[in-house]
Amino acid sequence: MMQSCPASFRYQNTSYFVMPSGDESSLLAFDAGWPCSLHEYARAMKATPYRFEHIRWAIVSHFHLDHAGLIRDFQDAGIQCLLFENQGQGIDEMEDMIAPKYKAYRRIQKQAFLKLNTSESRSFLAAIGIHGEVITSHGHSDDSVSLVTDDHEVLIGDLYPVSHLMGDDVKSWESWVRIHELGGKHIHPSHAPPFELE
Ligand SMILES: [Zn+2]
Repeated sequence: MMQSCPASFRYQNTSYFVMPSGDESSLLAFDAGWPCSLHEYARAMKATPYRFEHIRWAIVSHFHLDHAGLIRDFQDAGIQCLLFENQGQGIDEMEDMIAPKYKAYRRIQKQAFLKLNTSESRSFLAAIGIHGEVITSHGHSDDSVSLVTDDHEVLIGDLYPVSHLMGDDVKSWESWVRIHELGGKHIHPSHAPPFELE
């Protein structure tokens, strides 16, 4: 089986990820960068073997400005952005926060999303040559999703690390149980170094 290994790069205190699909020159991005930072995002990506021009699909872990701020720029570049069943409600709130601060910000084209259920994510990903699935991972926010590959790599966005969980944070615990069930081992948070799930 071909490996689906994420490459990461970082700017403004946030890590972003791209996964090669079956065809190395077509990438899936996990999270779109800060608002109005396309140039910086593309430049930071040069730390990987891949280039912005090769991104064809994008998943966002959740709709906070450091994760979904470049969606419109991605859409304008012809990138197919996905929206899962627990996502979408937070877009207006995010954009209302972004707009006063980032004057050049342009709003997301909601009708341009490819809407997908997480239950369909395995077949969607398989069709583009990536082996794994997307799960809802409530905890940090209700619109959070994580990507778990069959090679045990896990992209979690801002899901709180196991070591930081409060005992009563049931939603986050449930997300970690699901990640564990799917065989997730190598965990890649957006704002901390990677760690291994015991
Ligand atoms: Zn964040």
